[in-house]
Amino acid sequence: MIPDDPTALDYRRGRSGRPLQRLKAWLKDEGTNTCWLCGRPIDMVLTAADPNHREAWTLDHRVPLSRGGDPLDPANAREAHRRCNSARGNREPRPRPNASRRW
Ligand SMILES: [Zn+2]
Repeated sequence: MIPDDPTALDYRRGRSGRPLQRLKAWLKDEGTNTCWLCGRPIDMVLTAADPNHREAWTLDHRVPLSRGGDPLDPANAREAHRRCNSARGNREPRPRPNASRRW
């Protein structure tokens, strides 16, 4: 859970800056460090060494911000590889081969 401390009052202000950094830090610590798009683990040692690496950890949003997703809602936050995140763009995530759905 998000720590219930005084600074949490500022948690939802703004799309950049400290609240987003806090959300990222929280997700890195509390998350599974597994990419929600490809299902594979994310190398946090690599991420610390090279945050811009294509296999590095990124914060993705289940509902993209361009579709009205809340950038600071932990319920909307997902962990993803940088390349998976950027490959997805604003589309719905592609189903995994073993989790296909028919619409
Ligand atoms: Zn991935």
